[in-house]
Amino acid sequence: MIYLDNNATTEIDPRVVDVMLDVLRSGPCNASSQHAVGRAARLRIDEAIDMIGSAIDSPLDQPGGPRLIFTSGGTESNNLALRGLADPDAPIVISRIEHPSVIAVAEQLAAQRREIRWLDVDRAGVAKIDSLADLIQGGNRTAGLVSLMSANNETGVIQPIEQAAQICRDLGVTFHVDATQSIGKVPISFRTLGASAVTMSAHKFHGPTGIGGLWIDGGVKLLPLLHGGEQQLESRPGTEPVPLICGMATALQLATSELPQIQPRLGSLRDRLEQGLRSAHPPLVVHGCLSEEADAARAPRLPNTTCLSFLGADRQSMLMALDMAGVACSSGSACSSGSSPPSHVLLAMGLPAEQVQSALRFGVSKFSTEKKIDSAIERISSCYKRLTQKRSVEN
Ligand code: PMP
Repeated sequence: MIYLDNNATTEIDPRVVDVMLDVLRSGPCNASSQHAVGRAARLRIDEAIDMIGSAIDSPLDQPGGPRLIFTSGGTESNNLALRGLADPDAPIVISRIEHPSVIAVAEQLAAQRREIRWLDVDRAGVAKIDSLADLIQGGNRTAGLVSLMSANNETGVIQPIEQAAQICRDLGVTFHVDATQSIGKVPISFRTLGASAVTMSAHKFHGPTGIGGLWIDGGVKLLPLLHGGEQQLESRPGTEPVPLICGMATALQLATSELPQIQPRLGSLRDRLEQGLRSAHPPLVVHGCLSEEADAARAPRLPNTTCLSFLGADRQSMLMALDMAGVACSSGSACSSGSSPPSHVLLAMGLPAEQVQSALRFGVSKFSTEKKIDSAIERISSCYKRLTQKRSVEN
């Protein structure tokens, strides 16, 4: 199988596995216990927090300074942020292309009469930042929270986070960034980002599944989702999963220290895939552009991601044919694949139905190789040819 679904999840780095195995084999690990075994577990967590702090350029050990709440992953961090960061009556602003773990919470809050204001995106999939200040201040009440992803999981399009942070700071609004897709693909400094809270998820950067975090700036208040224990200053009670925490810290340390070598490699592998497919199939549409013709109007994207429309083919049929041919990709976010609703991201970009119906997402990783990409191009091309020929015969 050629795995090109690295925005859904990544292969764990063997060095992370080694660290986790060491911890798993080291004996019981409950950091709340008061004996020596418990203290050893606490020490491992403290060391992991130090490693994470240096990887994200935000020391996490200063009293009153930023802190990290460990969660089960991006979904929980986003739920916690949306429900816990703002005054419970204040309106919330989110973009139309957020991950379902933001949108579904917002819709649930809306059903409970909370006001949700939607930030539109342009045709390239970039949030219309010029309308953010009006959205925050519009209506009867100033918004209490803005949530915007750093990069979209389907298109890879990078969002204007710095500008949004500045607007939120000027208007005194809490700003949450879902950085799940950016970490390990582009540089990101939590210290200079200007956000009040940031979501991360370890399995997106070659760490284990089931662990993530919500970074919170000093002085930012948070209401917990869970109750019943004193762990993590009651922000997220429950026995801390020490092996997962150590795995995440190692993965993050590797992801950030190796980024200067990995980022250009990801870009060249992704470009090779795009160019190979484009020259084989001229009508192919590469999303993330202001206009279909002009590549010059391309929005900045994550180096590993491409979202392509195979005009004339149906995305679910392509996905299944590619699965049989040994290529793993996605027809939307992994959480919604398998179901048939078209991508809310591509719809929000105002793309024609034909493009939405035929769109697939590919994501390379540091474990991808040129040889695998070339073989993927051949397999994808032959599936596309077969499906479009079959369709024209049927028609
Ligand atoms: N946010 C974004 C942008 C994502 O891509 C994902 C995963 N598809 C999540 C949140 C959810 O993360 P997790 O799978 O760790 O719950």
